[in-house]
Amino acid sequence: MTSNDSPTSSHFIRRIIAEDLETNKYDGRVVTRFPPEPNGYLHIGHAKSICLNFGLASQYGGLCNLRFDDTNPTKEEVEYVEAIKADVRWLGFDWEDRLFYASDYFEELYQYAVQLIKDGKAYVDSLSAEEIKEYRGTLTEPGKESPYRNRSTGENLDLFERMRRGEFEDGTHVLRARIDMASGNLNMRDPVMYRILHAEHHRTGDNWCIYPMYDWAHGLCDSIEGITHSICTLEFEDHRPLYDWFLDQLNVYHPQQIEFARLNLTHTVMSKRKLIRLVQEGHVSGWDDPRMPTISGFRRRGYTPESIRDFSDRIGVARKDSVVDMKLLEYCIREHLNKSASRVMGVLRPLRLIIDNYPENKVEELEAVNNPEDRAMGTRMVPFSRVLYIEREDFREQPPKKWFRLAPGREVRLRYGYYVTCTDVVKDENTGEVIELHCTYDPATRGGWSPDGRKVRGTLHWVSAADALEAEVRVYDHLFLNPDPEEVGEGDDFRSNLNSNSLEILNSCRVEPSLAEAPSGSRYQFERLGYFCVDSDSSDGKLVFNRTVTLRDTWAKIEKKEKSGGS
Ligand code: ATP
Ligand code: MG
Repeated sequence: MTSNDSPTSSHFIRRIIAEDLETNKYDGRVVTRFPPEPNGYLHIGHAKSICLNFGLASQYGGLCNLRFDDTNPTKEEVEYVEAIKADVRWLGFDWEDRLFYASDYFEELYQYAVQLIKDGKAYVDSLSAEEIKEYRGTLTEPGKESPYRNRSTGENLDLFERMRRGEFEDGTHVLRARIDMASGNLNMRDPVMYRILHAEHHRTGDNWCIYPMYDWAHGLCDSIEGITHSICTLEFEDHRPLYDWFLDQLNVYHPQQIEFARLNLTHTVMSKRKLIRLVQEGHVSGWDDPRMPTISGFRRRGYTPESIRDFSDRIGVARKDSVVDMKLLEYCIREHLNKSASRVMGVLRPLRLIIDNYPENKVEELEAVNNPEDRAMGTRMVPFSRVLYIEREDFREQPPKKWFRLAPGREVRLRYGYYVTCTDVVKDENTGEVIELHCTYDPATRGGWSPDGRKVRGTLHWVSAADALEAEVRVYDHLFLNPDPEEVGEGDDFRSNLNSNSLEILNSCRVEPSLAEAPSGSRYQFERLGYFCVDSDSSDGKLVFNRTVTLRDTWAKIEKKEKSGGS
């Protein structure tokens, strides 16, 4: 599919680190971090960042911290913190004892701000938020200085302290860096460092009623933790001069920021702001809906950590934005499950098949291979009897050309079983729908081959009707119809691209009895159909599966041919 970047090849960030190690820039240290804001669940884009940061640290014998950027108390929740930790762990990474929060450093950040005020590098501004915006200027026009910009150091210190003490209402004052209102970089036009917010914080409670802005906190947190390579996405490139400015003014340790292109995937949106709308407006069942591009969604869908790490390696790391095809992610999960998942037989849309010449009460246990890719995974026994279910799609009364499956008078192989020939078709009198097939079997073909060398082209999966378990199977399609969900008409937004058929629930499926005890989260290949995972909605006596991904689409090909010229 792609050979972008194999796990062993180099990319520009690896080259930078290798060079820094060579020149001993950080005394041989490599310290990275993954810095999520706990305002939602992690998505597959975050997985790229996690694999990159933890991966680099482990590759170069360094360390990677997990740090929550919890500077915005109104949008952040403990639920998100816990979900993020669970996701990082599930992906296979370990921050050991290095779990940090920006809020751990609130006091330190406050003291640094006081230092900047004393140095004349920060001031309390009392313009309203709208005025600050107005004064900011545009890309083509310089900004205007605030009338409060030249307050004395004493006045600034006094006001800032009173801001902290809670003497002022939200929005009445802010602390701003005193840089340059005419800078070509808007981020440098006296950015806000602190705002007043009388809000409870999930960790610091009501200790604080002023909160640091992301741009003030972020670079300093990296500095405090001694991060060497501060890796972030491209949109922060324009913020780097500001982070540098703060660190230079304070004369503190200086990590190196390196930007890379964020991951975009076809048929999905990736911003937490948008994902949260899907959840809150009920377009999906939750953050872990198996259609969501969240790590918890992929986990529930049946993806493995290995497949996501492999994906992350394959997409590589670049400086240019691009969109990755969802098919690549699907390829990665197929690759892994092909090697690791047991094969079983399950029928999604059952059609009864009766073998007229098979003894009524006989049940044979037939040996089936668990994984032909890995003989060590052994075999299991599957019951075979006179009444079976096969897949409705595997029978055609009027077969097209090159139809190798079942049709009146045709002979096929039942996987691990016998050759059967269709002798009769029973239909519903009113609807004409086929409700039952009658067949005869050839007892000499046990195991699925004929001693007289007679060949059949089709092999069908099946289950024994009396022994099979009922199951619900949830079949998913893309959450968004358009590969680019943002491509919408005037006045519409990404939600107008939602695929109303992204979930199909099949509730009369049948699976082989070996799945009776299948634990939630376990993954299987249903022969000829795809990969499926036991959903957490399963309970005693009720089996629910998610279809993780289809098999390589050989069957679709036949149908395509049929439509374009066959019968
Ligand atoms: P979102 O817009 O989805 O909320 P974010 O960047 O605001 O994303 P953070 O929690 O701040 O979310 O992100 C934590 C880390 O993950 C950051 O270092 C960020 O650069 C990285 N990250 C976020 N989205 C992507 C993506 N699509 N591809 C790669 N890295 C990403
Ligand atoms: Mg963010």
